[in-house]
Amino acid sequence: MKTDVQIAQEAQMLHIKEVAGKVGIDEKDLELYGNFKAKVSLDILKERADQANGKLILVTAINPTAAGEGKTTVNVGLSMGLNKIGKRTFTALREPSLGPCFGVKGGAAGGGYAQVVPMEDINLHFTGDIHAVTTANNLLAALIDNHLHQGNPLGIDPNRIAWRRVVDMNDRSLRNIVVGLGGKTNGVTREDGFDISVASEIMAILCLANSLDDLKERLSKMIIGYTYANQPVTAKDLDAVGAMALLLKDAIKPNLVQTLENTPAFIHGGPFANIAHGCNSVVATKTALKLADYVVTEAGFGADLGAEKFFDIKCRYANLDPSAVVIVATVKALKKHGGVGKNELSVENVKALEAGFENLQRHIENVKKFGVPCVVAINEFPTDTEAELNLLETKCAALGVPVVLTQVFAKGGEGAIKLAEKVVELAESGVANFKPLYALEMPIIEKIEIIAKEIYRADGVEFTPAVLKKIKKFEEDGLGELPICMAKTQYSFSDDQDLLGAPDGFKITINDIKVSAGAGFIIPMAGNIMRMPGLPKVPAANKIDILSDGEIIGLF
Ligand code: ADP
Ligand code: MG
Repeated sequence: MKTDVQIAQEAQMLHIKEVAGKVGIDEKDLELYGNFKAKVSLDILKERADQANGKLILVTAINPTAAGEGKTTVNVGLSMGLNKIGKRTFTALREPSLGPCFGVKGGAAGGGYAQVVPMEDINLHFTGDIHAVTTANNLLAALIDNHLHQGNPLGIDPNRIAWRRVVDMNDRSLRNIVVGLGGKTNGVTREDGFDISVASEIMAILCLANSLDDLKERLSKMIIGYTYANQPVTAKDLDAVGAMALLLKDAIKPNLVQTLENTPAFIHGGPFANIAHGCNSVVATKTALKLADYVVTEAGFGADLGAEKFFDIKCRYANLDPSAVVIVATVKALKKHGGVGKNELSVENVKALEAGFENLQRHIENVKKFGVPCVVAINEFPTDTEAELNLLETKCAALGVPVVLTQVFAKGGEGAIKLAEKVVELAESGVANFKPLYALEMPIIEKIEIIAKEIYRADGVEFTPAVLKKIKKFEEDGLGELPICMAKTQYSFSDDQDLLGAPDGFKITINDIKVSAGAGFIIPMAGNIMRMPGLPKVPAANKIDILSDGEIIGLF
């Protein structure tokens, strides 16, 4: 089979004006970035405020293996399948971070015959949104250090500055640095560090803002640290908001591209799925809902993190009303949950699959707690056997949950027609009655406990004394009613990545807690969360090249 980049480069792309025309986007609302990318104006949202929305479909997954189980691939394939059965459909996805392309993971624009294109642009600089986020973030960092240098009138405690610099590169050497070396004219010496750009709170804000005004409001609330008197210092206190908003004036507009089958796609915003909520932008999703019958969108990681945050943070803030959920599962990952080692995942093992099914079952039960119906999509791999696929059908049937074999990687939209039909049936049945899991007015501790018990099925939550102190401070500072954005491993329901399947009898330990007051969530940390990835021994970068005829190789 051809590589992803080969398939992408052979794509018969339409001019982006044509793609826009198909969904009724006026040329006046289109800003072209070459022939195949465009930004669309936020005016569409304003002008169509009273118009009915299309149906919103979430694509989520079981707890994945390190390779990912194919949410993006199925998302793209499903939107093409919906198009094939006559539904006007939009895909709405996150923009991949550039850094990981050069590490192990590769890009994140789908795979096989279910990709968004031009994939090399989407995976690299694209329309410069991540650059804008990086610059806005680092402007604030520069303003903070300048404030210290110019006499520090706000009394910011240099030891309690939480705002870090960012760069869109996997660069472990920058995790911990010292700035301001070299004498008095070179600033105040203090410890600092870099995160990868998409970990910036500004990226989360870009994705939750409903408008430019809302963006500014959220930027103004970002807490960069504390004063010697233990008072929070915000971006507003540093008079940084206007300049940051200006830097983001284009980044806030959704980016229009297309799938391999010319389905319109918004690729916009890319926050982390652990320390942030892991969903594409609210403005892209909402604009797409005004333009299409169906909008298919993805939330990062497995459903325990991704779907929960999609519902409790994104849908709640943006007033979205999802109609159906697709839970992506693979036979190999379920076998891993059933105890099979990573080198034997391609060998038929019905018994392990049956044991591992409990992971999928728990996600199915969880999704139902939000009042939205779901369908399981088996993302087919060549190594899946008939006995294994039959077992999954029987097990899902016993739970009364529809399950569909999906072949989008190999066949594109054609491989998702059955899934599309099932999704339409669920969405049009009108049974969806979305409700968040917890009320915002609850104390922070209770909200965390509800997520841990209802979704992870933990017996309880342990908080370190330092965390309890911080929670008290957040509540005193008026931040107690924010939703929770849990940071934990994606591989397990628990906070131990090796506890696969559907574990019980465990507790979740919260060993740190942070607040993104601008984005608008509290981040309990269950374990060490990586905010700046590193490169592996043999980075993908070593094999990436562009040849003299323009052919790109090694990007996947
Ligand atoms: P996720 O969004 O869940 O992280 P992706 O859709 O990005 O997962 O897929 C992860 C990787 O697996 C990608 O490189 C993709 O091309 C590949 N992949 C997905 N589905 C299949 C499949 N059915 N067969 C082979 N490779 C696949
Ligand atoms: Mg993905």
